[in-house]
Amino acid sequence: MVDSFDEECDYLFKAVLTGDSAVGKSNLLSRFARDEFQLDSKPTIGVEFAYRNVKVGEKLIKAQIWDTAGQERFRAITSSYYRGALGALLVYDITRRATFENVKKWLRELRDFGNPDMVVVLVGNKSDLSSSREVDLAEGKSFAEAEDLCFMETSALENLNVEEAFLEMITKIHEITSQKSL
Ligand code: GDP
Repeated sequence: MVDSFDEECDYLFKAVLTGDSAVGKSNLLSRFARDEFQLDSKPTIGVEFAYRNVKVGEKLIKAQIWDTAGQERFRAITSSYYRGALGALLVYDITRRATFENVKKWLRELRDFGNPDMVVVLVGNKSDLSSSREVDLAEGKSFAEAEDLCFMETSALENLNVEEAFLEMITKIHEITSQKSL
């Protein structure tokens, strides 16, 4: 599914990662973009992004995915972070209930600053830590259904469902943008 970086692409679009600090956003992105996991990763301050090319049907899509890179700690995410984004992975940590409670706040921010058609995938990360689970799978799922979001539990550590979560978002964005351009 991955093509070389330099290949001509049919579409380029921006997507963002959002959610509380330390839920695993950077590691999800490095898994998806570079197939890496960083133990004890330290957030750098500033915005970072990574690209990956993905084939959807006949089309080659270049996804530019932005990471908050620690800014959320200072509540300094501005509208420019969300501007032009067609998709978002809204991440919480299944072992920290507060990060799930804060999903509502992040969703409001996405809806206030983001594109109204933005595809949002709610992601419950750290599914490998099931013995410390504080948020049931069913809770995540029913919240996502009520808010009309896609939903997935992932483990960046064990590389479970990471590819699937990003691909779900990218495929949905492609469906929406190609319908619009008909
Ligand atoms: P961010 O602040 O949301 O970008 O979170 P990071 O990607 O920096 O991760 C925060 C901490 O959680 C780091 O110590 C990671 O090693 C750890 N972490 C991230 N994803 C997972 C996961 O899926 N499972 C486990 N067990 N730890 C994870």
